[in-house]
Amino acid sequence: MKSSVIIAIDGFASTGKSTIAKMLSSHYQIPFIDSGAFYRGITYFALENGLFKEGVLDEESLSTALENLNIRFHPNSSDLFLNGKNISDKIRLPVISENVSTVAKLPFVRDFLLRELRTMGSEKGLIMDGRDIGSVVFPDADYKFFFNARPEIRALRRYEELRLKGEKTTFEEVLNNLIHRDKIDSAREVAPLQKPIDAFEVDTSDISTQEVFSLLAKKIDTK
Ligand code: C5P
Repeated sequence: MKSSVIIAIDGFASTGKSTIAKMLSSHYQIPFIDSGAFYRGITYFALENGLFKEGVLDEESLSTALENLNIRFHPNSSDLFLNGKNISDKIRLPVISENVSTVAKLPFVRDFLLRELRTMGSEKGLIMDGRDIGSVVFPDADYKFFFNARPEIRALRRYEELRLKGEKTTFEEVLNNLIHRDKIDSAREVAPLQKPIDAFEVDTSDISTQEVFSLLAKKIDTK
């Protein structure tokens, strides 16, 4: 494999992108960045600072606040820091999942994060997962993958994860949230979720995590 390789993994919510990206990261010793964490971090910031008023986001205030926002992801720990504070536990809460796609569709938020994400390549390269990595952030990525899976399977996996963390939620709520996010993410005008034409598509519904990893590693090793 050449040095400074860029691997992009895009796809629908809860299809296992980050899990596989982390496995590839430790196998190839290439840093991993979860781009969704950044959109979640900005959503957390907006909620924490009362920028949602009666459910409506004050876009102007958010746009101004972004100018002084420091948002960092630590590739080794997968921790997200907002203005120096570790907010990793907070960004996975259901309230963030409920609002993140509304924040992520705003062109000024995407512009801001596009600039941030593009600076993250390292000498060793980068593995990044998200919705628009192979299409917009790194259109020249060396490897592009696109994950899909049946909604019920995705919701069940996510529900189990949240239940283990002690979150009070139901399978139906999780399923509805995934469908809702996919719809907004796919329909937005800027950088919508779509399979790049040169991406290799993987349906993770009926195969194990280990099988998905092996499939991608084989593609990477034989290209
Ligand atoms: O990957 P994750 O499910 O944590 O992403 C949360 C949300 O962030 C997505 O539903 C989407 O709205 C947004 N996102 C995005 N572009 C990316 C990564 C995430 O719009 N590259």
